[in-house]
Amino acid sequence: MGEFRKAEDEQKRHDFAEGESGRGPGVPSRGLANDPRAGQWDGRRMSKRMIADYKTFIVTDGEGVRNSLYVSGCPFHCSGCFNASIWDFQAGHEYSQRLEDRIIDDLRAPWVQGITFLGGEPMLATPVLVPLARRIRREFGHDKDIWCWTGYTWEELMREGETHDKHELLELIDILVDGRYLKDQHDSLLQFRGSRNQRILDVPRSLAAGEPVVWARLHDQERQVSEIYLKDRDAGEGAQAS
Ligand code: SF4
Repeated sequence: MGEFRKAEDEQKRHDFAEGESGRGPGVPSRGLANDPRAGQWDGRRMSKRMIADYKTFIVTDGEGVRNSLYVSGCPFHCSGCFNASIWDFQAGHEYSQRLEDRIIDDLRAPWVQGITFLGGEPMLATPVLVPLARRIRREFGHDKDIWCWTGYTWEELMREGETHDKHELLELIDILVDGRYLKDQHDSLLQFRGSRNQRILDVPRSLAAGEPVVWARLHDQERQVSEIYLKDRDAGEGAQAS
């Protein structure tokens, strides 16, 4: 049984793209996650149009107050992923016209800056997200922005042979947080991302430049906020005592 498990684990951890170059920073080459070859994973075939969750008025999924759509299905299987329960493409509820209309209505609130696509793997949920993003552009132009998290790196998405639907989605997105979550590169001081290999990229600028361009308002913390509060509190208490 133990040996069977071991063999199964080895199989899961097989690096499909061993030896392939142009993958971007911090992509595990062995033992940490699945690494798809260009075009190997195709959302048009893999997506079951399932949604794990939809939340309004979130402040942790990008800049400003946002609404967040969590799609189901992610084959990267990063060790330490916070959303492992929605790796399954069949998890959750089927996307519907009713949900799409609600998403559009919710975006009308003036205090909502935009929408965020997370997962799961949004780049493999293109049958849902490309039409939704197009409708958002039709209804709001660029008054509302679109953020998206992906396990792919920018370089992987740009590889020759990657599926066209990913590029269609990318062209509708403003900000992309790219790369797998790598537990050994975890850093809680990073803004909107969990590990140091991940980047916050300005998509229109990156497409224009032909290379990844980091978001101009990137602002990682230099130390834990709680430490600042403790220090200030201690200083305050000291001042009162004296
Ligand atoms: S890419 Fe994201 S959702 Fe997918 S396994 Fe990794 S951390 Fe989880």
